[in-house]
Amino acid sequence: MTGAESEACASCGVVVAGGSEGCQRLFEAIGLREYENMRFARYHRIVVDVYALQHPDRYGRSAKSFAAHLTGLSAWLEDETSAPSVNAAVQRWLSGPSPIEKPQLPARYGAVTIGELVGAEDPVRYGEVLRRWARTTWDAYGALHGTAREWIATAQRSR
Ligand SMILES: [Zn+2]
Repeated sequence: MTGAESEACASCGVVVAGGSEGCQRLFEAIGLREYENMRFARYHRIVVDVYALQHPDRYGRSAKSFAAHLTGLSAWLEDETSAPSVNAAVQRWLSGPSPIEKPQLPARYGAVTIGELVGAEDPVRYGEVLRRWARTTWDAYGALHGTAREWIATAQRSR
């Protein structure tokens, strides 16, 4: 059993016991903490979006799921309070016949990984690390900012 050896996750680069599988376990542990503690629960959607954008081979394989995560991150960074209504509009749009193509993804997804969230036990600190993680990931997707905004605009028009 070599699972205890630290390796880099092939997708986000976090160095963790078990590499990519270990990274997946970190994501599951964060999800559990959000489920168990209300002070973390409000961050659930954005954690999923950012993690998915750093692991698109697993969580953004279809154009529609990729679009949901990219627009989710865009909306959250733009305005946390209005993000849920943007997400709802996008969800309605994507559940219909919305012919979109998956764009070319960046080669890297930013230097901050879920590994930094794991160490942030305090909700305030957690929120800070999360914002940094979200922002650096969004910056890594710089070439697709216009695409994200276009998708959101289309979704909001097609209500
Ligand atoms: Zn990873």
